[in-house]
Amino acid sequence: MRKKVIAGNWKMNKLPNEAMEFITELEPLVKNTENEVVVCVPYTDLFYALNMAQDTNIKIGAQNMNAEEKGAYTGEVSGEMLKAIGVEYVILGHSERRAYYSETDESVNKKLKKALSLSLKPIVCVGESLEQRESGSAKEIVTTQTRLALDGLSNDDVKSTIIAYEPIWAIGTGKTATKEDANETIKWIREEILKLYGNDVADSVIIQYGGSVKSSNANELFTMSDIDGGLVGGASLKADEFSKIVNYK
Ligand code: PEP
Repeated sequence: MRKKVIAGNWKMNKLPNEAMEFITELEPLVKNTENEVVVCVPYTDLFYALNMAQDTNIKIGAQNMNAEEKGAYTGEVSGEMLKAIGVEYVILGHSERRAYYSETDESVNKKLKKALSLSLKPIVCVGESLEQRESGSAKEIVTTQTRLALDGLSNDDVKSTIIAYEPIWAIGTGKTATKEDANETIKWIREEILKLYGNDVADSVIIQYGGSVKSSNANELFTMSDIDGGLVGGASLKADEFSKIVNYK
């Protein structure tokens, strides 16, 4: 049985005091869940969120990292730096990073290998645009992104990777994929993994849905056969709303 992983992505939101307030408010609301609870915060909130989340079941993640260990990369943060302060998760290849900061399948693959070598738990985002969905190429897009992201990984590494299927047209738009479409697309991703890595890996890899998840649609999405939880943007900014998504049933 795959575990459900519910991860919040705050994007560029919340100052340290707001991050600390959020964790304090969220903790009693999610302490009894069997689901994995992750909050991916801006770099400047990491230290504060980690401190507040100590001795709780809330895991803290970053939203990006550089694939290099150190050096002349002004403004960048390495996986080693995240690991050193106790960060557990890292989002890689979010569509906003692909669109605004030239992330490519190749750079995502490099970062993924680095994150896994450091035992950071990666959440790798894949997803098609509206145009691609409407032209019937969604399957080709998401399976290719998955294949390229995972290129060169061992079976164990793939098992340790979380994939978030996030249709770009559903992110921050209020438009959610239907539960059937989201499940079908995630099945395509799982079938691709089955072809490349076999049944055992395909069966265990966690694949989330992301795109306008909220408390009112979390249950119908997360109870589908292949959807193993969600990556949640806007609705993860309020502790009460996010807790309802975590406790979706
Ligand atoms: C995201 O940022 O990964 C996301 C899915 O955003 P939202 O939930 O706001 O659509």
